[in-house]
Amino acid sequence: MKFHYKCTTCGQEYHSDSVMYLCPKCEQTNEPDLPPKGVLKVIYDYQNISIDFDQLWQKEFLPLLPINSLESLPNLRIGKTPMYLIDRLEGQDLNFDLYLKDDSQNPTFSFKDRASAVVSAFAREHGIDTIVAASTGNAGSSLAGIAAAQGQNAIIYVPASAPKAKLTQILMYGAELHTVDGNYDMAFDLSIEATRKHGWYNRNTAFNPLTIEGKKTVSFEIFHDLRSVPDKIFVPVGDGVIISGVYKGYEDMLRLGIIDRMPVIVAVQAQGSSNLINNVYHNAFEFTPSHTIADSISVDIPRNFYMARDFLCKYNGEITSVSDEQILKSSKILARNTGIFAEPAAAAAFAGFLNFWEQNQIPVNSVNIVLSTGSGLKDLEAVQGII
Ligand SMILES: *Cc1c(COP(=O)(O)O)cnc(C)c1O
Ligand SMILES: [Zn+2]
Repeated sequence: MKFHYKCTTCGQEYHSDSVMYLCPKCEQTNEPDLPPKGVLKVIYDYQNISIDFDQLWQKEFLPLLPINSLESLPNLRIGKTPMYLIDRLEGQDLNFDLYLKDDSQNPTFSFKDRASAVVSAFAREHGIDTIVAASTGNAGSSLAGIAAAQGQNAIIYVPASAPKAKLTQILMYGAELHTVDGNYDMAFDLSIEATRKHGWYNRNTAFNPLTIEGKKTVSFEIFHDLRSVPDKIFVPVGDGVIISGVYKGYEDMLRLGIIDRMPVIVAVQAQGSSNLINNVYHNAFEFTPSHTIADSISVDIPRNFYMARDFLCKYNGEITSVSDEQILKSSKILARNTGIFAEPAAAAAFAGFLNFWEQNQIPVNSVNIVLSTGSGLKDLEAVQGII
C-alpha cells in the first residue's frame, strides 16, 4: 500500500486498501448544521520517496497519487492547463507578476476534473463501476464527463436551480441526473443516502478523501512553470477543498524537500457565502444561509471547513470577500483584458486579487497567481445584466 489515511480531527491513522470516507470514530459525533469532522488526509511514505521534481513530473506525479497506474486515468487531458502572464490591466503596466492559471481548459471546463479523474481511476482499480456525487453543478458535470470517458456510470444530485449549461452537460455525458428542489446541502444528504442504500462509490468533496489528491496537482504544475514558490495564490472558496488541495500540493513538496517555504494562499469567498472565512478565527461555528450569483461557491456548511482552517492558520493564509457586484465587474475586466471568460466563482478569485491590488497589498516584483477555476460559458445567465 503506497499511502494511508490520517484523520484531520482526532489524528487516528488508517491503513486500508478499500474505500474509506470520513473517520469512522469522528463521523459519529457529527451534527447537522455544523461542518463535518473526521475528514481524512492521504499520507504517503515521504521518507522513502526519493525523487526530484523533474522525475516526479516525468512520472506524472504517480508516486504522489493514491492510484497504482496512470493507465487507470481517463484518456483525456486532465490538468496541465495553461498559466498566462498578464502584464497589463486596465491600461496600466503591472510592476509585479500576475499569472492566471486557466483551469477552464479541462475536459468539462472546470477545475473539478482534477478530482474526478483520480476518484474515477481509483474506482477502476477497485472494480467499481458506479459513482455518485452531489454537486452545485461542476463536480457533477465533471464526474459525468470523466465517467463517460471511463465507461463508468455516474449518478448526480444537483439543485434544480443549477445553471442550465451544467445540467445539460450532465445529461449529454449520459449520467443519471437527479435534480433536487433545494440547495446543495440537500443534494449532499441525498447522495450520501444513495451511497448507504446502494453501495455506490461516492465522489463528494470532503467526504471522499481522494478529491484533494486530484486537486493538489495544480500546485505541482504551478511549481513546474515557475520553478519557485509564488508570493500569493488567490483561490475561490466554497467547501474549501480546492484551497486544501493547493495547500496539500505544496505541503507534499515541502515534505519531499522540493521547496523550503509555503506560498501565502488567499481564500476568496463571495460576501453572500462566506461561512468559511467568517469562521476561521471563531471558536463556535455560526453560519448564515448563502446567497450569491457565484453558484459554484454558494455553500451553507463548508464541508472541508476544519482542514481548510487548519491549513490557513498553520501557513498564515489570508482571507477576503467580494460582493456579487464586484464578481460581475471583475468577470468583465478579466474577459476584456485577458481574453479569458470565467464563470462567476472563478471571477471571484480575480476580484479578490483586485481587492488586494486596490489596497496596495500587491508588492512590487511579487509573484501572484489567480486560479481561474471554471469557464464563463457554464453560466451565461449570470452575466446578462452587464453586457
Ligand atoms: C467547486 C468550485 C469552486 C470551489 O471549490 P471548493 O472546493 O468548494 O472550495 C470554485 N470555483 C469553481 C468554478 C468550482 O467549480
Ligand atoms: Zn477521527
